[in-house]
Amino acid sequence: MNLEEIKKLNQESSGMGPQEVLQWGLSNIHPKLALASSFGAEDVVLIDMLMKINPEARIFTLDTGRLNQETYDVMDAVKSKYGLKLEILFPETEETKEMVRDHGMNLFYKSLELRHMCCGIRKVKPLNNMLATLDGWITGLRADQTQNRGDAAKFELDEQHGGMVKLNPLIDWKWEQVIEYIKENDVPCNKLHDQGYPSIGCEPCTRPIKPGEDLRAGRWWWEQESDKECGLHADHGD
Ligand code: SF4
Repeated sequence: MNLEEIKKLNQESSGMGPQEVLQWGLSNIHPKLALASSFGAEDVVLIDMLMKINPEARIFTLDTGRLNQETYDVMDAVKSKYGLKLEILFPETEETKEMVRDHGMNLFYKSLELRHMCCGIRKVKPLNNMLATLDGWITGLRADQTQNRGDAAKFELDEQHGGMVKLNPLIDWKWEQVIEYIKENDVPCNKLHDQGYPSIGCEPCTRPIKPGEDLRAGRWWWEQESDKECGLHADHGD
């Protein structure tokens, strides 16, 4: 698709709900379409919706090797509830070994450059390898998560990843809608959300937020000047 077609699609889809956006993706791109899930609240909502539309819908996750136990727990709960064949991506072994040998296990605290190196090896490279095999991907992005996500749309041309289609079905949902859907549909949910984590990431790089703090304040909390993103969504954030 080109930019004009994406613009037209966004105009036509202004009244579309998330399920209709997913249905469009499944009708037009499946099986070269997959949801990228980090098993946060938005992602489990999308998994529930996808499984109800087409149980063959594809879902993948990045196991960085540094996730919280609670994230592995919800991964298993979701696999068991829906019987889905989760595609789990891992970082390249030799590259990870070399990084840890040269810079230590906790290199991300030492400098922004090393944090980006870790995100690059553990997240961005496996993601890019996966996306290179697809024509479209689905994300759980919501517009009010950060300022630089405010200009995202339901359908995007992902030029960062070779011009594939990016679907953001929950882009205009609020946090309260996400939680309400989870409760109403009895969707397995990451217990970290109950402990003050609005955003799910790697264990050493994510902390709960305090009342009134920005939703992304818990990610790479020791960094004051960075944009709190890891490169998964360079245009709008991780
Ligand atoms: S979030 Fe932290 S541990 Fe995870 S990949 Fe990035 S720097 Fe590494």
